[in-house]
Amino acid sequence: MLADSFGRVATDLRVSLTDRCNLRCAYCMPPEGLDWLPAPEVLTSGEIVRLIRVGVSMLGIREVRFTGGEPLLRRDLVPIVARTAALQPRPEISLTTNGIGLARRAGELRAAGLDRINVSLDTLRPEMFRKLARRDRLPDVLDGLAAAVAAGLAPVKVNAVLMRGLNDDEAVPLLQYCLSLGYELRFIEQMPLDAQHGWKRAEMVTAEEIFAALSSSFALAADDARSRGSAPAETFLVDGGPARVGVIASVTRPFCGSCDRVRLTADGQVRNCLFARQESDLRALLRSGATDAQIAARWQAAVAVKLPGHGINDPSFLQPDRPMSAIGG
Ligand code: SAM
Ligand code: SF4
Repeated sequence: MLADSFGRVATDLRVSLTDRCNLRCAYCMPPEGLDWLPAPEVLTSGEIVRLIRVGVSMLGIREVRFTGGEPLLRRDLVPIVARTAALQPRPEISLTTNGIGLARRAGELRAAGLDRINVSLDTLRPEMFRKLARRDRLPDVLDGLAAAVAAGLAPVKVNAVLMRGLNDDEAVPLLQYCLSLGYELRFIEQMPLDAQHGWKRAEMVTAEEIFAALSSSFALAADDARSRGSAPAETFLVDGGPARVGVIASVTRPFCGSCDRVRLTADGQVRNCLFARQESDLRALLRSGATDAQIAARWQAAVAVKLPGHGINDPSFLQPDRPMSAIGG
């Protein structure tokens, strides 16, 4: 088991497959991008699958989510998914993506064993997409979403981050759009994880504001059937259901006490929290010929020292050195 000293057990592994991306979302990256990891430092598909195998067969990992950076930029994504699906016990496999290129690959990903997908979509206005993501790719994202449904990846979830003065007037249109196509929308509060350190608490659009904006057009009721458990999203039934909307209030209503996640970066570092300031180097172990048992022991030690919370709301909070795109969101 991957247990920490506060009684939490990590069963959900987030694997960043690359730190590279083809968008430049304002809450994530600067317009010029970042210095990407040198290729030799990035784990190969064989190394990734070996670590996942150690996680599921020795450490109780039950869910694997591939993310990044943009995971669809990995040409070996389909074989990585297929090899993960062949592990015993087979974990649940999901993907978080910006959707660019998904239209072409949704079918093969599904066939390889992908169970679920989250696509990020912050705006429905092409000019706002250009401003927010700094690329003119809105149609590709919408096509990717449609392809995910066609491939049978239901329910397709949509992640949206609202930024003040940019897309903060789009909560209602985004929900209308998602309801009309059967996507399950979740808003995520903007977190201090951008590479340019531009996050300001006063500018953040809070869960409370999002809830108020949605309530002007929809009747929202707490979804008692879906207890929150370790899920970060608080879900609401929309207009009596069955459609739902979620709000992930990572900053204003943290859910650290029930966190069941652990993260692996594209260069093979285990992080016990998005906001951790320390990492454990599994890549060095792997490449020095360590046994599975040695890797498992280092991984357990990394999770054991997980702090009780992310501390964003403490005066002494320090943003981690790695930005979200290099950790895996
Ligand atoms: N590129 C993929 C994507 O955008 O879905 C996967 C990686 S991205 C880092 C994962 C999720 O993190 C996305 O839904 C994105 O909107 C979200 N995200 C990125 N930076 C964030 C921030 N500073 N605060 C909150 N969410 C953020
Ligand atoms: Fe890329 Fe995802 Fe970051 Fe946007 S949020 S820049 S799509 S990694």
